Amino acid sequence: PESITVGELANRMAEKAADLVKALFKMGMMVTVNQAIDQDTAELLVTEFGHNIKRVSDSDIDIDTSTDVDADETLKSRPPVVTIMGHVDHGKTSLLDAIRGAAVQTGEAGGITQHIGAYQVAMKDKSKITFLDTPGHEAFTEMRARGANVTDIVVLVVAADDGLKPQTIEAINHTKAAGVPMIVAINKIDKPEAKPQKVREELLQHEIIVEDMGGDVQDVEVSALKKTNLDGLLDAINIQAEILELKANPDRAAEATVVEAKLDKGRGPVATVLVQRGTLKVGDVIVVGAASGKVRAMLDDHGKQVKEAGPSVPVEVLGLGAVPSAGDQLTVVENEARAREVATYRQGVLDKKRTTTAPMSLETMFASKA
Ligand code: GDP
Ligand code: MG
Repeated sequence: PESITVGELANRMAEKAADLVKALFKMGMMVTVNQAIDQDTAELLVTEFGHNIKRVSDSDIDIDTSTDVDADETLKSRPPVVTIMGHVDHGKTSLLDAIRGAAVQTGEAGGITQHIGAYQVAMKDKSKITFLDTPGHEAFTEMRARGANVTDIVVLVVAADDGLKPQTIEAINHTKAAGVPMIVAINKIDKPEAKPQKVREELLQHEIIVEDMGGDVQDVEVSALKKTNLDGLLDAINIQAEILELKANPDRAAEATVVEAKLDKGRGPVATVLVQRGTLKVGDVIVVGAASGKVRAMLDDHGKQVKEAGPSVPVEVLGLGAVPSAGDQLTVVENEARAREVATYRQGVLDKKRTTTAPMSLETMFASKA
């Protein structure tokens, strides 16, 4: 923040960069548009042009939308976002595939499915459910650690022939800590050695009382392998979603969370984001964590180009200058100069964090005491 390029300053003052260069020349300075000038010179220029100076603190540079609450009358229903968790080999991937496969068979999915980290399934009544296709606790806890709570409902998968295992208990604890409602999918009921009742009893020891035992946690017996009772699971999700009355304002600048991001050889940085409120549009100028850019194209979970994505819709976003991290927030800003400013600021914060965690030299120790 100690220096700014002439071009950037002109942009913020809404003046022509050439006029600034001219004014600087009169002040005895030969600078080009892309050159940086110090804060004092910048202030001199600003007053010279008759603008008021507002020194911004660091917290003014970054974006904080947490206080920006949508009025009740702007809210519309949105689909629930579901994460499937459970012990390894209990059938998380099989269940996700089975649900998605069932949707493909009803024809609405158009056959080709693509892995983008999240997908939507349409119900018979046209309502939708969004599944995060990054199962496991890692994605869930990493996102939560970064302040992103994108999951509305957790489906806990427990294999009926294996019962509660360490990762099942971990998932229960994470879900409780996040305050997210849970549905228990008792899987592999096709197996002769399946003991669903034993699963329900084991859950009691962790204060999970399923409906079958007189509690209020929905439990559904399924077989991902035989595709048994997938409808029952989807119904349970819909019931839970109705209780939650999930809503968001679709008619505003979008806010979204990164679910997955990668560097694609041909397409550059690609981020799968889940829109949380507003509608993301092609052409929007965005900041995502310490990355910035302009939405060049968006692809849905079938690899189809879309122009817009509303609340709870997962899309792949192309056009970022760098690869963001899972859990990063996407915000739409007014112009590219502002996007770069925020991204640069955040990169600086990240760099500072990195250097302060490095061992201190004598020099910096004295410097910090002064
Ligand atoms: P994940 O590690 O939780 O993602 O589990 P997977 O989906 O990879 O499944 C682990 C194994 O269990 C695979 O061999 C699956 O074929 C098998 N499996 C998953 N669901 C069922 C089921 O409903 N019945 C039976 N018999 N096997 C299943
Ligand atoms: Mg798996």
